[in-house]
Amino acid sequence: MGRIATIAEFLDADSGLGVHCNDCGRYVELDLEPVAEKFGRDYLIVGVDTPFRRSLRCSACGSRNMQMTVIAPGTRMKSRFLPR
Ligand SMILES: [Zn+2]
Repeated sequence: MGRIATIAEFLDADSGLGVHCNDCGRYVELDLEPVAEKFGRDYLIVGVDTPFRRSLRCSACGSRNMQMTVIAPGTRMKSRFLPR
């Protein structure tokens, strides 16, 4: 798999994005379609310090200590998680 960084690249590759909370262990898979609508398809979501990463916050414990993982195409589940 090549490097993917923007929402468009994720959607085109049919890849998902999982977010894991390092503090409480909560794990959710993001629905990137509403994120694309909100921020645009060229929005950068993978990077060391992107606005998207900074917007992530655990809905269970409020931690910002979140870890993002790329989910291989075809394996993602439907769930909803919107960054604030
Ligand atoms: Zn948490």
